[in-house]
Amino acid sequence: MAYDELFPEVPANRPAHCCNCGRETVAPVTIAYVQGTSGPGYARVACPDCAPKVAPMGATGPR
Ligand SMILES: [Zn+2]
Repeated sequence: MAYDELFPEVPANRPAHCCNCGRETVAPVTIAYVQGTSGPGYARVACPDCAPKVAPMGATGPR
C-alpha cells in the first residue's frame, strides 16, 4: 500500500451561496438541515455574517 493511499486528498470547503444574502462564502455555516420529501435532504448554509440572524435559536451552539 502506498503512503498516499492512507491520506487521500480531502477537498477544501467548497464555496456555497448564503441562503439569506445570496453572496458566495468560502466559510459556509450550516444553519438547518432540510429533509427532502424524496431522496436525501440538503443543508441550508449561511455566510458567517448572516448565520447569527437566520439560525434558529441555539443552532450555532454556545457563544
Ligand atoms: Zn449572508
